[in-house]
Amino acid sequence: MPERTPLHLDKLDYSTLQQCMHCGMCLPTCPTYDTTGVERNSPRGRISLMRSIADGELELTKTFADEMYYCLGCLACTSACPANVDYAHMFEVARADIEEQKILHSIQRNFWRNFTVKGLFMRPRLLRILGRIIWLYQKTGLQTLLRKVGAMKLLPKNLQDLEPMTPSIQNQFSDQQIASVEKPKAGPQKYRVGFLTGCVQDLAFSHINRDTVDVLLANHCTVITPRNQSCCGSLHSHNGEIDLAKTLARRAIESFDLDSLDAIISNAGGCGSHLRHYGRLLSEDTEYSERAKLWDSKLKDIHEWLMEIELQPPPPLSIAQEITYHPSCHLHHGQKVTTQPEDLLRSIPNVTLVSLPEATWCCGSAGIYNITQPEQADLLQKRKITNVQRTGCQTVATSNPGCHLQLQNGLGEKHQVIHPISLLAQAYRQTPKDN
Ligand code: SF4
Ligand code: SF4
Repeated sequence: MPERTPLHLDKLDYSTLQQCMHCGMCLPTCPTYDTTGVERNSPRGRISLMRSIADGELELTKTFADEMYYCLGCLACTSACPANVDYAHMFEVARADIEEQKILHSIQRNFWRNFTVKGLFMRPRLLRILGRIIWLYQKTGLQTLLRKVGAMKLLPKNLQDLEPMTPSIQNQFSDQQIASVEKPKAGPQKYRVGFLTGCVQDLAFSHINRDTVDVLLANHCTVITPRNQSCCGSLHSHNGEIDLAKTLARRAIESFDLDSLDAIISNAGGCGSHLRHYGRLLSEDTEYSERAKLWDSKLKDIHEWLMEIELQPPPPLSIAQEITYHPSCHLHHGQKVTTQPEDLLRSIPNVTLVSLPEATWCCGSAGIYNITQPEQADLLQKRKITNVQRTGCQTVATSNPGCHLQLQNGLGEKHQVIHPISLLAQAYRQTPKDN
């Protein structure tokens, strides 16, 4: 075989590729294998392909690339794996090879990747300007009008499918709702934490960011929220843009005075799962590697942090609610924050938690999977919605913007989708008169 360009897969510690003992325990947890029953579409099959490429037995082909983009990256296989196979790392490395070797390049794909992953999500100001334009389009009623007259039918088919999923943009973004330093008004200041506002979260769910700060204040935390934060780089890392992910990791580290903080808080499952691994991402960066390790040690998911510092007991909600909870894959399988969100919901008096069938099965959102694999995403969304409907609950709690949008789009206006922290914030805001 002629010599080929060295790949990231070649450089991967070989013990990582060897970890898989082919037991197949991951197979029943894998949504793509569940759909097709084909070994190649399973975690075991994908790992075997990656190993064959690293061993030089297989070429990096379009078939392999399609396979790695058919994978949701949901990491359900990692929770089932008795050998602790680091699938998350292998998956990102394989996608980086696919992008660097330009295996899937096409004019249309390159255009969208340059516009979104390499353009908008690298430039927080530009992203906010676009957010403001969409906000105007929605607030002036133009969106409703164009939908009513059927103008969306003029869009190309893939944009037509995506248009109903456009998130509602908030009137105010996080920087307008949260001061750079906020201190608890009552009680002791026990902790000092940094807060990450995210990018999609900042535009479409800035109210959840406000709720998160309020909950932290109620739990004796002083909250530091740097202005104009960038994307955390999770989108880039999951889509094979490792160098861009590194740039964004350095930017995030630079925005905080790490030594002065007890923790850095993320409230989005998908972001948190990536943010916890800056140490590995920047391990070869002599300037940042030590700070990245310190960052990892301080990075906490909000549910995890609150349970760690002993949550201040919330007062009862004025109206009793039955709620079900959908765990975001990257919170549950990626960060292994499994029990805390439900413990937190159970701690709110007047909240009854109803268990969700197949709770840890992916909802099909998975970053930009809706765009790249619409049929499989649709299948998973329908399955999740059927399960939510089986609970009889009108409210479903979840902790990731992608899952939030996927559930809300599938359930429609009659159901409420809420972040567990927003419910907790509502409880803390009750005055004695409300109860
Ligand atoms: S990440 Fe999800 S879709 Fe991909 S192999 Fe694992 S279980 Fe299957
Ligand atoms: S469960 Fe782990 S060891 Fe077993 S086949 Fe799946 S990835 Fe390999």
